[in-house]
Formats: sequence, structure tokens, C-alpha cells
Amino acid sequence: MTRRIRTSVEDGQRLVWFEDTACALSGVIAIDSLALGPAAGGCRFWHYDDAKSLLLDARRLARGMSYKNALAGLPFGGGKSVIRLPEGEFDREALFRSYGHVLNELKGDYLAAEDVGTSPRDMESVRSATPFVFGLPPVGTAAGGDPSPWTALGVFLCIETVLARRGLPLAGCRIAVQGLGHVGADLCRRLHERGAKLVVADIRKEAVARLLAAIPAEVVSTDRIYCSEVELFAPCALGGGLNQETIPDIRAAMIVGAANNQLATAADEARLHSRGILYAPDYIVNAGGIINVAAEYLGQDQGEVLIRVHRIPDRLAAILGRAEATGRSPSDIADAMARDLIEAAFPTAPKQKAYASSLAT
Ligand code: NAD
Repeated sequence: MTRRIRTSVEDGQRLVWFEDTACALSGVIAIDSLALGPAAGGCRFWHYDDAKSLLLDARRLARGMSYKNALAGLPFGGGKSVIRLPEGEFDREALFRSYGHVLNELKGDYLAAEDVGTSPRDMESVRSATPFVFGLPPVGTAAGGDPSPWTALGVFLCIETVLARRGLPLAGCRIAVQGLGHVGADLCRRLHERGAKLVVADIRKEAVARLLAAIPAEVVSTDRIYCSEVELFAPCALGGGLNQETIPDIRAAMIVGAANNQLATAADEARLHSRGILYAPDYIVNAGGIINVAAEYLGQDQGEVLIRVHRIPDRLAAILGRAEATGRSPSDIADAMARDLIEAAFPTAPKQKAYASSLAT
């Protein structure tokens, strides 16, 4: 047996470290909360310089999933897995199959799906070893498959809502999109169709070329995207982009995007707030994907997903309204609401956990 798993606990989060030397698999699953149901969150497959940055990413993403799932009204706790992208050649299918065996060890306490660097094909490899994975190609009108288009739809609807609150039409509006991957490219398409003028950046030339083959956009370098002269900035790459170096450069009056953990630290929201920049909490805006995953898990169809994703901007508007009325920041309001929901659910947590584990039988 080449697969090894060890568990530790840090600040109330369960950390499941795994590796399989036979297929270059290594990473960690962070489980933040089981209060509202099994911990659900995507599987990130990315390069990390060291174990510390990998762990920090997994832990912050898992906390974000707890809040996202709670506020989206989903029967899920929060968790996330991060797999280190191996150096050199590796057998992708074997790696994800082995990761599936790791999920079995958690007996349904954690449910995986796609995230940055993974695809429905990878989730099929995971499914060959475990039932605890979603985001698989759908059958007929059933929910499932790549969650990214649903995430992009939710972000798009939130952008419309935020612009409308400022009395701005989407047509003719200048919007910067950072990251042209699964979500960013789909968002660009939707924005272009409604007449927005796009400024875009990606570290991958092929992602930029693919977008430009489909729609017109002004391309800037990845460090110039922050200071683009735009009304709205949509971060759709990785987290931590909003920080003490970048915030002083931002020209946009509004930030609404898909990336998880856009703020590098809690202090960065205060920085945006003091500059009068409206920041829409990422985990409210980008809930479309996990709503699709939840519908797949619950055996619902795409019609249900559509209804639920269209409710995201209402939730955002309510939070922005409360922020305006109280002078508190939108993230502050959203975090407090999520914590209340999670704490209120603690008494029923064992029942939820038993339900999740029953999937294994
Ligand atoms: P993806 O991997 O398909 O795309 C990410 C893109 O960002 C890639 O094209 C990458 O080259 C680019 N990128 C990375 N660093 C960059 C930088 N510094 N500047 C510019 N571009 C950069 O991922 P995705 O599925 O589109 O997800 C995008 C973000 O949205 C992630 O933070 C993800 O966690 C979050 N998110 C995604 C979903 C979903 O359904 N896919 C759901 C919720 C949140």
C-alpha cells in the first residue's frame, strides 16, 4: 500500500493529509464545519511553493465554504481539498482515483467537486473509487456537471444588481475581468452579450487568445488589471488579489467576482471600505457552482438550480442594504449572518453527520 493518510486538528478544523507515492498524489482536506451537513467544497489542483501556503489556502477556502453553504441555505458544512500539482509527468486518472480512495476514509464527512485545475472528467476518475464526489456529467435534465457556468451566471446577476443600485446600465459599462478560466471566460461572454466593454488579463496566453477569438476585449498585463480605468472589477482568478499592494491602485468603484478569498486579510476589506469601494462578499456572489453541486447531491434538476441561482442577487442586495443602513462593511454583515446560522445548527449536527455517513452504505 503506497497511500498514507494522517489527521490533525488545528483551530477547530480537521485536517486530513494524504499522499500516494505510486501516483504523485499529495495534499490536504480541510474540514471546517459539519454543523449543517457533510462538509462540501471543491478540489483544487494547483502548484504551491511550500506546505505552509498549501495548508493556508485549504483552511481559508474551507472556512469560506462553511459561510457560503450556510448563507446559500444548503444542507452542507464547509470543507475543501487541495492537491499539489506534481512536477513533471504523472498519470492523472490514477492520481484522481487514488484521491477518491482517500475520500472513502472520511466516510462521507466531506463531499468533493471541481475547483481550479480540475474538470468533470477528473471527477469521473474520482467517482470510480468513491460515491463522495459530485460535479459529474449530468444525465438528461438532472443537475450536475461543470459548476462553472452556474457560478458565472450568479456573478453576472450580482454585477447587474450592484450596477443597478448605483443607477448604471450594464450596456457601455467598463468591466475588468481578472482570470479567463472556466468562470471568467463565461462571465465575459455574458457581459459582452449585454453590451459591457471588457478589459481582461490572464497569466495563460492561450486563455486570452481563446477569449479574443470569441469576443472583443482590451487585454492588459496581469499587474495592470488592478489599475484599469473601469467602473467594476471582477476577480475570477485565485484568491488574495485584493491586498495592501493592489488596493491603492484600484480605479473601479465596485468589486464583484467569482474568485474565492479575494481579500488577502480581513484588514483589506477595511482598506476598500475606507476608499469607498463597494466589495460584494465573494462567497455570496460565487455560490452558483455549489448550488448546482447541492442539487446534484439532492437529486434535483437544472430548473431548481436556475431558480436558486436567481436568488443570489436578492441575498446580496439584502446584505448591501444592511451595510448601507448600519455603516458596517458587507463582509462583516455576511460573516456574522453565516456564523449565526452555523451556531444555531450545532444541536442537530450529529444527525446531519449520520445522514452523510449513510451514503457510504
Ligand atoms: P480556472 O482554473 O478555470 O481559471 C482560473 C484562471 O485564472 C486561469 O485561466 C488562470 O490562468 C488564471 N489566473 C491565475 N492566476 C492569475 C493571475 N494572477 N492573473 C490573471 N489570471 C490568473 O478556475 P475557475 O473554475 O474559473 O475559478 C476561478 C475562481 O473562481 C477561483 O478562485 C475559484 O475558486 C472560484 N470559484 C469557482 C467556482 C466554479 O464553479 N468553478 C465556484 C466558486 C468559486
